[in-house]
Amino acid sequence: MKTTILGLPNSYDFLIKKAVEGFWAGENSENEISKARYKVYNHNSGLQESLDLPVENDFDIYDRLLRTAVNFGLTPKRFGEIKKLEDYLSIPRGKQDAEASPMVKWFNTNYHVVQPEIEKLPELSENWRLKGTDQNKKFALIGPWTFLAYSVNRTNYSKEELFEKLSDEYVKLINGLPNKIIQLEEPSFLTQGLPDFYSKFLEKIKKKVHLHVYFGAVNDFSEKLFKLPVEGFGLDFVDGENNLNLLSHFPKDKILIAGVINGRNVHKISSRNKRTLDSILEKISKEKLYISPSSSLMHVPLSAEGEKVNFSFAVEKIKEINNIKKGAAIYEEVSLEEVELPEKFFYRAGHAYWVSEVPYPTTTIGSFPQTKEVRKKRNLLKEGEISNEEYEQFIKEQIKNCIKKQEELDLDILVHGEFERNDMVQYFAENFEGFTAINGAVQSYGTRYVRPPVITGSIVRKNPVTLKWSKYAQSLTKKPVKGMLTGPVTMVQWSFPREDISKEAQYYEVAKALREEVNDLVKAGIKHIQIDEPAIREGLPIDKSKREHYLKHAINAFRSVFYQVPNQAVIHSHMCFSEFPEIMNAIKQMNVDVLSIEDSKAKGKTANSLKEGGFPASIGLGVYDVHSPRIPEVEEIIKIPLTLNLDPKKIWLNPDCGLKTRGEEAYLQLAKMMEAVKLLREKK
Ligand code: GLN
Ligand code: ZN
Repeated sequence: MKTTILGLPNSYDFLIKKAVEGFWAGENSENEISKARYKVYNHNSGLQESLDLPVENDFDIYDRLLRTAVNFGLTPKRFGEIKKLEDYLSIPRGKQDAEASPMVKWFNTNYHVVQPEIEKLPELSENWRLKGTDQNKKFALIGPWTFLAYSVNRTNYSKEELFEKLSDEYVKLINGLPNKIIQLEEPSFLTQGLPDFYSKFLEKIKKKVHLHVYFGAVNDFSEKLFKLPVEGFGLDFVDGENNLNLLSHFPKDKILIAGVINGRNVHKISSRNKRTLDSILEKISKEKLYISPSSSLMHVPLSAEGEKVNFSFAVEKIKEINNIKKGAAIYEEVSLEEVELPEKFFYRAGHAYWVSEVPYPTTTIGSFPQTKEVRKKRNLLKEGEISNEEYEQFIKEQIKNCIKKQEELDLDILVHGEFERNDMVQYFAENFEGFTAINGAVQSYGTRYVRPPVITGSIVRKNPVTLKWSKYAQSLTKKPVKGMLTGPVTMVQWSFPREDISKEAQYYEVAKALREEVNDLVKAGIKHIQIDEPAIREGLPIDKSKREHYLKHAINAFRSVFYQVPNQAVIHSHMCFSEFPEIMNAIKQMNVDVLSIEDSKAKGKTANSLKEGGFPASIGLGVYDVHSPRIPEVEEIIKIPLTLNLDPKKIWLNPDCGLKTRGEEAYLQLAKMMEAVKLLREKK
């Protein structure tokens, strides 16, 4: 039995983040970025010394997919020739005259890749050619099929034609590398199938290939997969438990790289991992077996040293893998407890969808700009430099100011501004029992990192969480103030969930805590309550056979948060993504009065597809992009609702997400939106 991993985070000491952001701020040269990269490479190499097969080219200074695109010369024309790091980094960031490339979620993780835009045929770049440095390390590459699955094709070539050309360039790159083994990653076989022509590509490779399919089981295409001409296959036995059943026809002459420990969670190994390994060993001989985490370790923080609880991050997982090989692993005795999921269908009995009295009602998504001052106060409170009273007084002033500004803008439904929250998940996690906060960070995209809380026990609401802020905000105005909560699915999706009970069971636990909060808000006279669920789409399992179960319980748990509210309460939800088709039926069953969506980039298309899908309630149109400081034109805003053939009283106008990361320009943007609304109402 041998050991390996698929990849490590790039977060060591945040050297890369600091160098890249420092470069953008004009504080250091490009050279510092290369130096940081080199230091991280050395550090990560050191961590892998104990492994039989270490990996390289497994991380990038910004995003591996972007780096692969540049390596094959596939950059959009609007950025001109990519000469320097500055040009490279401008692709995800945008330039004055060139809009940034879009970002999309990497499968069902919370990591975002930069979407390649293909405008010409691929050609291996001399300048940006990826280089291997150590023949004894395997060289990690996102495979051509997955690369194409994530790309936008703006050429006249078909996907198959592009594949033919691209895969030839891959062959050139791979055959020119010093490395003996290539880790070729093709998770898109799970979502787009395994094409017949794939084996022709592999035949041209003169290296040993370890072909990896992670994030699910290779159910539908295992026979075809196992016939491919490679040295070995990497399979995921954590997110793809059913891979165990497919091993009976695993080819005897091939190597299996078995993902036996969870690369995407932080709990220590347990007796479940042991059982998985034992079942694998019944079918695969030790000589043909590598053990590894199920995916790259970029989805967990680097080291758990100094954390409150003994979690297993990347460094610890390498130790676990080594210990398993040595027979020295300590498996915690946990088994998946079958928590019964409620049979009850939670919904608001006798509820009629609420409709606004004014046409084109207006609101925002919740957060207002979090100034440096707000973050500073929070830090001072954390460090004990200021008292709780002083902090609360400060937050109240922020709320007061925010309400005043919204009244001046003449918005219809106001919000308190979320100044008390560092992050929409972290804030509730800190206030509910059952979550443990961590210091370690996980890359979310580019130079951005998040600290997902860990679910370590039963979730309980100890005290009301948002009540005092909502009550205070409402006391300042005659207009309704929306209560603001993070939904149960998003709370679990953006945390590290427990592994001893199902995710679905955890949705219901969080939902119960939130239900208590909702009931308190209603009692306090808060009429409008928004429950954000931006992660529902992302949580959709890759394995199609698991989708129905997931959606049924995700939506039921969501509804259970508010099923007890009286009829006159108005429930809003917000989702910032625009791929509804696959989950349309579930969305229709959310039972909310208003659903606000991101629709500025799709220019109303998303709302239209919702309407055509028979969505029964009002739609909150995200009419401009909050991720940009640009002030939208009134005409652009007006166009979006006008393309919809919907009752204006059922169309809300709002920004497409929270305003938290914006500065003062947020108020100018909102003013444009209000100008647009005025014109729309006059037209009526
Ligand atoms: N209410 C949250 C906010 O306004 C929603 C954020 C989100 O959808 N990601 O910040
Ligand atoms: Zn959003």
